[in-house]
Amino acid sequence: MDKRVADLIDSYSEEFAAMLTRWVQIPSVKSEAAEGAPFGAEVRRMLDAAVQDIEAMGFPTRVFDGYAADATFGPEGDDMIAVLGHLDVVPAGDGWEVPPFSAKWEGDRIIGRGTGDDKGPVVASLFAMKAIKEAGIPLKKGIRLILGCDEESDWRCMDWYCTHAQMPEVGFSPDASFPLINTEKGMIHMLVQAPVSAEGLQVLSLYTGERLNVIPGESVAVLAGGQELADQVAAFAGKTGLDYRAEVVPEGVRVTATGIPGHSAYPWGRKNAIGMMLILLRELGVQGALRTLADAYPMEHTGEHLGIQCEDDISGELTCNMGILHLENGVITASLDCRCPVKADLDALSASIKAHLPGFTFVDEGRKAPHHVPADSELVQALLGAFHDQTGLPAEPESTGGGTYAKVLKQGVAFGANFPGDPDLAHQANEYIEVSKMMLAAKIYADALLRLCAA
Ligand SMILES: [Zn+2]
Repeated sequence: MDKRVADLIDSYSEEFAAMLTRWVQIPSVKSEAAEGAPFGAEVRRMLDAAVQDIEAMGFPTRVFDGYAADATFGPEGDDMIAVLGHLDVVPAGDGWEVPPFSAKWEGDRIIGRGTGDDKGPVVASLFAMKAIKEAGIPLKKGIRLILGCDEESDWRCMDWYCTHAQMPEVGFSPDASFPLINTEKGMIHMLVQAPVSAEGLQVLSLYTGERLNVIPGESVAVLAGGQELADQVAAFAGKTGLDYRAEVVPEGVRVTATGIPGHSAYPWGRKNAIGMMLILLRELGVQGALRTLADAYPMEHTGEHLGIQCEDDISGELTCNMGILHLENGVITASLDCRCPVKADLDALSASIKAHLPGFTFVDEGRKAPHHVPADSELVQALLGAFHDQTGLPAEPESTGGGTYAKVLKQGVAFGANFPGDPDLAHQANEYIEVSKMMLAAKIYADALLRLCAA
């Protein structure tokens, strides 16, 4: 890469840190819509602050009714390269050691909600554009930075942008990890219901999980029975080595299954507490719908007993998660969240799930098509080349079961800014970035943009 560009980026680190600090100090969590602020006042304030900073860098911007904004550099045209980031953040949550929106500096680190997801990578992309501009390198293709305000919820920002502006076809989203993600699995989401059986073990209460895409870490149920039942639970815990506790209470026996929580797209090394609860209930003699669920989803993420276990060479294996299991008014409600290989037939998978859950009503089903950009495409090759040259690290494209912003683009990939081996702190307490790594990310972005856009 042009040495002037690298030197310029090195010279920006203080300016980068100051700008990121200002952005993180705006708690751009989605809230009630207001006039001109479809995702709430703080998200709108964030959008205005970003636009002001970007204009001050000399890039013309457009704001789309509080949904999104863009900034353009270089010749406008159908072949512009998009850089797609977002300004909204998830709520801070618990467990912070510093105020989550204080953007506290600790040495090279800036700590705060949104530092890594996605404000830091957005600001790094912006400084990559600034360096190319100040180095005076002529471009044959333009660069369009597009900033959405609803990535963490419903992506309505991108729907709005696509209907009010021309979305480029090719680009990347600095909203995941390096080296690069070019494959996103397809998705099947389901909500199923069935009446609970009057036969066998009686479950008096059971209410676990709120979200399809979360692997619950704990499930609690109250069962009809006494000490004998509690002893059976203890025996099953001993037999399986799983963490179950049983306690006799006035209503019956309160059972707690403790697993390992996580995100449904990444089940490896986790333990779904709902799956644990289901196999325990089966052991204790539950009948009907809960028995069917336990047979179909016996604490496994492969979907084997739903008849959907599969994998392919570009995406890896299918994963399956039950994030919700509720018993209310005699009705069992359960969710399934399957992340399916690119080459899988979603119709066939859906049919197999239904065949393995007799007696259940499918009250809701959602799908997302898979997304894949070939590894030998110009885009993927340019980005991987930039990553490898700037870091010296191996650069192979990756697959994810998660969703990234990149699939908004016909040919889009996720590209940084989390580095290999670093913890993924997105949505976690004490999220932070290291300024030096973000400057390296800026160099990677500049190198990649020059490969794609320089005249
Ligand atoms: Zn993000």
